[in-house]
Amino acid sequence: MICDFCGASKPTTGAVLNGKFGQACKACVYQVSRQAIPGSAQYSRDRDREDNLRDLIQPWTNKGLPNREFILAYPEESKSYFTPSQLEQYS
Ligand SMILES: [Zn+2]
Repeated sequence: MICDFCGASKPTTGAVLNGKFGQACKACVYQVSRQAIPGSAQYSRDRDREDNLRDLIQPWTNKGLPNREFILAYPEESKSYFTPSQLEQYS
């Protein structure tokens, strides 16, 4: 088979690449599947991981001080935890 995308004469498989259906060789399929496309399964998994990380951030550090990371990650929520001067000091 001839790859519709790069013209190589290689074994191909039917695939949608860049919104176009055709016969694609492994190299073309691999190249496109590596791109992080918003809405793709890989992209969603990465987003989920980031969200889970954010959920682990506590408003207070283990020393009882405002947690700067929390303030940066949750600017709105932080307003109900901390005074304006704390927010200014730790953000
Ligand atoms: Zn190809």
